[in-house]
Amino acid sequence: STAQIGVTGLAVMGRNLARNFARNGYAVAVHNRTPARTRALVEEFGGEGEFVACESAKEFVAALERPRRLVVMVKAGEPTDAVIQEFAPLLEPGDMIIDGGNAHFADTRRRERELREQGIHFVGMGVSGGEEGALNGPSIMPGGPKESYDSLGPMLEKISAKAADGSPCVSHVGPDGAGHFVKMVHNGIEYADMQLIGEAYQLLRDVAGYSPAQIAEIFRTWNQGRLDSYLIEITAEVLSHVDAETGKPFVDVVVDQAEQKGTGRWTVQIALDLGVPVSGIAEAVFARSLSGHAALREASRGLAGPTAKALSESEARAFADRVEQALYASKIVSYTQGFHEIDAARDEYGWDIDLGAVSALWRGGCIIRAAFLDRIRSAYDTRPDLPSLLSDATFAQEIADAQDDWREVLIAATREGVPTPGFAAALAYYDALRAERLPAALTQGQRDYFGAHTYRRVDRDGSFHTLWGGDRSEVSA
Ligand code: NDP
Repeated sequence: STAQIGVTGLAVMGRNLARNFARNGYAVAVHNRTPARTRALVEEFGGEGEFVACESAKEFVAALERPRRLVVMVKAGEPTDAVIQEFAPLLEPGDMIIDGGNAHFADTRRRERELREQGIHFVGMGVSGGEEGALNGPSIMPGGPKESYDSLGPMLEKISAKAADGSPCVSHVGPDGAGHFVKMVHNGIEYADMQLIGEAYQLLRDVAGYSPAQIAEIFRTWNQGRLDSYLIEITAEVLSHVDAETGKPFVDVVVDQAEQKGTGRWTVQIALDLGVPVSGIAEAVFARSLSGHAALREASRGLAGPTAKALSESEARAFADRVEQALYASKIVSYTQGFHEIDAARDEYGWDIDLGAVSALWRGGCIIRAAFLDRIRSAYDTRPDLPSLLSDATFAQEIADAQDDWREVLIAATREGVPTPGFAAALAYYDALRAERLPAALTQGQRDYFGAHTYRRVDRDGSFHTLWGGDRSEVSA
């Protein structure tokens, strides 16, 4: 037994993760259901470090030093269970199975429970950064038992991305499914970020009249400021790309129907169960679904819209500045909602997740990496019990400064008929949170009227019901 870590499942992610371990000086046992992949890895990249190619599960397990660290990088769902069933009987108490796939956190909780009985440490590990990140440094979100991190953590810290201050983008997130949960919310926030950027693009194009190339320049400028992030950077790249075949902007030759793999949808489904309003993420998921309804969109193309009004050059420039404000404010809100969901999961599952640490490990390697995350981290470090990111004085002030422009952008979007569900949901959330009174009081009245669901009063304790069908006197419920 010579290998310090093993990777089974050698498609793009597993192969690159194995290479990353090897390049960092670890001896890596590699295994794949179809052995051809294992052989190909060693043939192609054997020179990068020390690989131990294993054809059988038995060979693989025997190659690992104890306690064994066995990383599973296979298709999420049934394949992951199949692989666990194959390996678990060959392992001993104290060994670790580390699932780096995109598992649903509920599956991770179940697997952790089942393997715990056998004394095996099961670590559900979120990995973000795609293929490139897996090779050169991903953001890593490991859950599972804390003691497993003592032996696994230093290796993960070595292969992970590093933030601008040099600290590794990995830390123990929390027990059982906490790591996969946080990875899921990361993806939900990614959906919201992408939707907001898409809306900003559409507004700059349809309201301000800029070309994709001009918008790419605007995004490049934004990327020098507080919006500095990977997603803004790649947006500029995509928008400035020209299709070689037609000479048209690339963005104009791509079918405008967005696909999704499911983690955004999970984020919303779980938020509904937890009762957390992640409206920005939900709108992003819905916007992708709407885009895909081609026949419905075709049938609706004749519906009436407003007559567009052209902006002068100086008006367009001023509008672009406003869109930056709206984008930034909406972004603060979507992170606020995402962190609320993690906070609610802490209560629901008894996880001791440190929200500041979560924002810190998203600073490098992952898709939502951004300068902005340093600020979220300092907000939570200053006040770990922050009720919401919007309660942080700095963020509150930035939104206060942005809100006039944010509202103006939504007025323009509405006037010109440009759909901006992300910006609008974010502003509605902000206005609802700060409202003195909400129409929820009326909702309670209606519920009491038709269903005797009772209500509470502002001036004394207890539950009450009004005899709506009778003399409308009030009774204690
Ligand atoms: P895939 O999700 O395409 O999975 C392919 C791998 O799974 C192959 O090694 C395949 O083996 C193995 N596999 C499938 N079914 C079984 C089974 N029943 N028993 C044993 N092995 C099986 O590969 P990716 O590299 O794209 O992703 C790996 C994991 O990482 C997934 O869970 C994915 O969601 C997650 N992930 C992916 C990211 C990405 O950007 N692609 C980013 C972050 C996480 P074989 O060669 O024998 O078919």
